[in-house]
Amino acid sequence: MNRVQARRAGGVRTASRQLNQRFERVSDRRKARLFRPIVVMTLGGLALHVLLAVFLVFKFDKVASTREQQMVQNGLQSQLSELDAVVMPQVNWDVAVKALDHKLDPVWADTNLGDYLYTFNRFTRAFVVDGSGTPIYAAVMGKRSSLDSYRSFDAAVKSVMPRIRAAEAARPPIRPRADGTGIVTQPIQANAIARIDGQIFLVIATLVQPDTGRILPRGPRAPVAITATPVDAVMLKAFAGRYMVDDLRLNDARTSDERRAYVDLYDPEGKPIGVLGWTPRRPGLMLVRQLWLPALLAIALMALIAWIVMRSGAAIFSELVASEARAKHLAFHDPLTRLPNRALLFERLHPMLARFDADHSGVAVICVDLDRFKDVNDTLGHHAGDLLIETVANRLRAVCQDAAVIARLGGDEFVVLLDRADRAAAGAMAQRILAEVRKPVDSEYGRLQVACSVGVALIEQPGIEPSEALRWADLALYRSKDSGRTRVTFFEPAMDAALRSRRSLEADLRQALGDETLSMVYQPQVDRSGAVVAVEALVRWTHPERGNVPPGVFVPLAEECGLILALGELVLRRVFEETAGWNRVRIAINVSAVQLRSPGFAALVTRLVARAGVDPARYEIELTETALLGDDPVTAGNVEALKRLGFSIALDDFGTGYSSLSVLQRFSVDKIKIDRSFVAALGGNDESEALVDAMVKLARALNLSVIAEGVETEGQRDRLVMCGCREFQGHLIGHPMPVDKIAVLIGEEQVRAAAALKRPA
Ligand code: C2E
Ligand code: MG
Ligand code: MG
Repeated sequence: MNRVQARRAGGVRTASRQLNQRFERVSDRRKARLFRPIVVMTLGGLALHVLLAVFLVFKFDKVASTREQQMVQNGLQSQLSELDAVVMPQVNWDVAVKALDHKLDPVWADTNLGDYLYTFNRFTRAFVVDGSGTPIYAAVMGKRSSLDSYRSFDAAVKSVMPRIRAAEAARPPIRPRADGTGIVTQPIQANAIARIDGQIFLVIATLVQPDTGRILPRGPRAPVAITATPVDAVMLKAFAGRYMVDDLRLNDARTSDERRAYVDLYDPEGKPIGVLGWTPRRPGLMLVRQLWLPALLAIALMALIAWIVMRSGAAIFSELVASEARAKHLAFHDPLTRLPNRALLFERLHPMLARFDADHSGVAVICVDLDRFKDVNDTLGHHAGDLLIETVANRLRAVCQDAAVIARLGGDEFVVLLDRADRAAAGAMAQRILAEVRKPVDSEYGRLQVACSVGVALIEQPGIEPSEALRWADLALYRSKDSGRTRVTFFEPAMDAALRSRRSLEADLRQALGDETLSMVYQPQVDRSGAVVAVEALVRWTHPERGNVPPGVFVPLAEECGLILALGELVLRRVFEETAGWNRVRIAINVSAVQLRSPGFAALVTRLVARAGVDPARYEIELTETALLGDDPVTAGNVEALKRLGFSIALDDFGTGYSSLSVLQRFSVDKIKIDRSFVAALGGNDESEALVDAMVKLARALNLSVIAEGVETEGQRDRLVMCGCREFQGHLIGHPMPVDKIAVLIGEEQVRAAAALKRPA
């Protein structure tokens, strides 16, 4: 890599780094836009789940606690029922009727009630009251005791007694079965929870009645056995164990401890007499206690996985966004200068033109095109061309800071848009561009001299389409180019008319080529003795309305609109046909650079030569210097083929282009034609003479022939002779003339024509 390429590569690297940083910033912004809601949603979702879990645990525990309450409540009822069942066989018994109803048998009562029920079932109290409710028997802790001990139970008993008596009254008459076996009575019992002397008792009242009915009650109201067991620590422990409740305690009232569950105890009157309190099981909380660590680990693991997925997702996303941004940028920017391209220019211009209103002073569309850029590209190569384009782009950036858009349309064409501009502002900016671009560019290739032409379209009315605005600026630019380049031209409607007329000229030329109404004229070329040694064939077009259109107009037009190959072919065919019979003079034919760049050109010439049967050695192909610039392989191949066929090559308009010695040698040019601008300047100053002198010497040194064209005066001819020029062409010698006239001139008349010329001194 040479220094230039290295520097360019460095520049490109910095630019692409800056661009990539921009794409990354875009990607970061988009990434934040995408991932922020995801993260917020995930965290929100997680928080919601935690809340839900807390709520469910609370609810779950609440339900469990309610169930436990229900269970304790039912348990208490079952306990009472069981106690009923324990007492029942002792009292619902023929023997009990006899021992308690017919005649009180205290010993029987001790054995079967007081002692028995205390010993086996923890009934600490056992009483018997008669039909009137008077106690007739009392036992405390299994021992017979004073009837006074009943007093404190009286209230509780009274509250259940009506139920017993009601059932007793409703009882059907007791009828023993015939064989005297089998139980014929339903037990009549009532129970209650009561606070007696500060102690809570489960009290069971059981009507004394026969079971088989062999012994019947004495009167309508039988005695009732009252048995009571205390709700004490022993009972609570057994109860808690049975129903699996923790820390069951009997309290006077509920406490404020919210972790405890309670069941209220009421006496038969509905008076609260105490509460059973315990610590309910909290299965939800238990579950949480057991599961919090694994759940936390699972969440951490999921978070880790999510993080990894997000990270790789983010990387892929970044890459996607960046490449999307890159693609977008590429689609709308010129890769070399990083300026907006045509698409972006149109996108920006459209709204500028659309929001045109009264206070809007105008939109200036400024087209900038480098002058002779192609020559730089052709002579120094594409790298030099790129370097120049980049430099110009940077200069435009520097000088057009007020511009709304600076775009590169491709090649060496730039467009600057100026919003809210008037003619003065647009003109000033165009001039600044002209001045800035004109500054020489010092590069690795040496000092490059550049310049540009500028066309400005100032849009001051609504309803103009962007493409139209750009076309106007383009027309103005072409006017700048046409009128000598390196200048600023404002678009005027007349230019549009000119373009239209050009279009119609183009159509007419196409027609003329089809009809072959073009003709050839021949201009003589003489040597120092005045003898015509050659003629130059020049094409003529007489337009039915416009008259003679000069080749300086229609040849470039043909080159631009693609008609030059047809025109060139017509010229070659005509010249070969018209001059086929000649054998005294050489004939020069002008060939355009476009023809030379066409791959089939040499083959076409070969065909035409063969068809006309002419000898190529008598023909000279006139090429312009620019046709031979660059290293186009097709041009080189065509020139080589023409030379092989026998044609000689003359370099036309020598000195106006960029030819170098290497061009002259590479293409084995045979002749140079000193441009008429040098000839016209002869006599005006010494410099022009020195120039012509140098050209002739150069030709001599390279062993080339020299001819001077545009010789109009004898003075010019004399000076040319002094410089060593040997051949001349110009009005002094003869104007271009039709084939029949020139034929006369180079025939018998040739001598006379020569005699008319003044011999050199
Ligand atoms: P060129 O090849 O340099 O042709 C010489 C031009 O100088 C001719 O103009 C000729 O009429 C003009 N001329 C000759 N002597 C004098 C003189 O003493 N004073 C002045 N002022 N002019 C003189 P023309 O015929 O108008 O052609 C102009 C250009 O058009 C030619 O310049 C050539 O480049 C191009 N051209 C003409 N015919 C053809 C053709 O058949 N094919 C191609 N490709 N180009 C052609
Ligand atoms: Mg010529
Ligand atoms: Mg010429």
